[in-house]
Amino acid sequence: MATINRKGGESVAARRGIEIGARVLDWFDRHGRKDLPWQHDISPYRVWVSEIMLQQTQVKTVIPYFERFMQTYPTVRDLAAASEDAVLHLWTGLGYYSRARNLHRAARLVCERYDGVFPDDVDALSELPGIGRSTAGAIISIAYRKPAPILDGNVKRVLARFHAVEGYPGVTAVGQELWDYAEQHTPEQRVADYTQAMMDLGATLCTRSKPACGICPLNDDCLALREGSPARYPGKKPPKVLPVKTAQMLIIRDTDGHVLLEKRPPTGIWASLWIFPQLETGADALMHCRDRLHLDAELVEHWQDYRHTFSHYHFDIAPLVLRVARPAAQVMEAGRFLWYNLDEPAAVGLAAPVLKLLGKLA
Ligand code: SF4
Repeated sequence: MATINRKGGESVAARRGIEIGARVLDWFDRHGRKDLPWQHDISPYRVWVSEIMLQQTQVKTVIPYFERFMQTYPTVRDLAAASEDAVLHLWTGLGYYSRARNLHRAARLVCERYDGVFPDDVDALSELPGIGRSTAGAIISIAYRKPAPILDGNVKRVLARFHAVEGYPGVTAVGQELWDYAEQHTPEQRVADYTQAMMDLGATLCTRSKPACGICPLNDDCLALREGSPARYPGKKPPKVLPVKTAQMLIIRDTDGHVLLEKRPPTGIWASLWIFPQLETGADALMHCRDRLHLDAELVEHWQDYRHTFSHYHFDIAPLVLRVARPAAQVMEAGRFLWYNLDEPAAVGLAAPVLKLLGKLA
């Protein structure tokens, strides 16, 4: 069936009726990996565990974990009967522990709801914790040998390049377009091998930064290759647009070269760390020194703005260097202010911008 892409036309592959299954299968027969532990004694349980382990984790890391897991829990019933602690212990070092918790919960549900037999239906599988449409597709196509598309990270990359699909796949319309292609290409025959082949192609040839297009079975029709820019696909996640907050930071030195720091409150950003006195953008720094800090200061220079980025906003800091015309050993509100000696630094926690700006001062 011809597919209309988001650019308003038929994709080249669809328009010319290009079918990739035969080429991909031929490549798989000759070059594909067939000795991975989960490619033997294939069962829905083994496919499922391998698919979950392979999420965000490389094959060579997964292999020993998969083998230990299968020795300890050879069936879904064994896994369901285990304690969560024991499952997490076996998972230790593999990371993303929610995967293990979901695996355990899903195993119990498969036993409770389906008497220990995985359903061969994408919707039913997708209701289980941690199983998305692609994992469900892998279980159905590889273990049950029924046509069901998959779209894991590797397949996404191959299809985005082959069809030059613009945009970040996390955007609904882009993801949908890729699913449409995945569906269009999934063959009726040898679907288990096709699924393995597409995952393999993405993992071994159509790699993230250096695709081996010269030996790829899809190179005749690959639009990204034709454009000369495979690495441009799939589109990157758009950077989060963070709000920007601004402030002035006063780097006040006394005649001995000590620098005034102020302790942050115990909650909020830089909690309990020491930082330069700070005031809002546009406020009068000298007046602030006189009225709030009881210091007669003079402005020495403005430094270039410095950006510190938190997860939820950018903080643009305008550093002002000031000088007070005396040794300023007398401390306002002991415990809250500190004249910091750069030659004999006090053992206090410094906020990141302080470290950066003190470095410049030194
Ligand atoms: S030709 Fe290159 S970019 Fe296109 S699918 Fe093959 S490896 Fe990927």
